[in-house]
Amino acid sequence: MFKIHQIPALETNFALIIECDVTGEVALIDAPDAQPILDAFRDLDLTPTKIFVTHHHWDHVQGIDPLREHFDLTVFGPKSEAKDIKQLDVEVEPGAMLKFGDGHLTVISCPGHTYGHIAYFLPEQPTLFAGDALFSLGCGRMFDGPPDQMWAGLKRLRDLPDATQLYCGHEYTLSNGAFASTIDPDNKALEQRIKEAQSQINSGQPTLPTNLGSEKLANPFLRADQPLIAEKLGLSGKDPVETFAALRKAKDQF
Ligand SMILES: [Zn+2]
Repeated sequence: MFKIHQIPALETNFALIIECDVTGEVALIDAPDAQPILDAFRDLDLTPTKIFVTHHHWDHVQGIDPLREHFDLTVFGPKSEAKDIKQLDVEVEPGAMLKFGDGHLTVISCPGHTYGHIAYFLPEQPTLFAGDALFSLGCGRMFDGPPDQMWAGLKRLRDLPDATQLYCGHEYTLSNGAFASTIDPDNKALEQRIKEAQSQINSGQPTLPTNLGSEKLANPFLRADQPLIAEKLGLSGKDPVETFAALRKAKDQF
């Protein structure tokens, strides 16, 4: 079994601590800010040996150097972003299976937010660490694109089992939900998820993790190939890539 601890950092970021309770191995997904992560390791009495990085943005890597002053860490991250992540020890490629504890993390390519963004999936206990590729009710801003590759990456994440627990790099669910409901106003799954997220926020809880199966029903960015979404954007019958790109642009302007 793996235990996952979600650590809020900066304004909206999350770092994730993964603990294998068979081998005792401990790892971190992304390092937005060292202090809250150090506090969490101290409170949990855990010592990490690995960091798995999803992409090169500063709010995912700036904690690495200060954490290395406290721990002996091997840093894994996308090979294609090696020039932008100077701390990488192990450059990983999509499809790689990285041993962790008594299981492994598989590396899934999901570019678009950044050119080499990867996600990590733990098949032994279906869990997806999506970074900024996929959020609850949304997806990352498309800084690098292109839209066909970003859409292809989101479909790879959508192909994972419904029972998957989804962890993301940011707490954006309610603002994403506000946009999503303008696109897909009659979607009961979306309405339900927004209600759930609102009540989580009201009680001071994060809205993550969430269930990937319900995201598939509620998140418009995972539904860009649904005729209803295309119709809403005036793109009926067009390639879903066009719908995805229009959706992403509409969100940027929301
Ligand atoms: Zn980012």
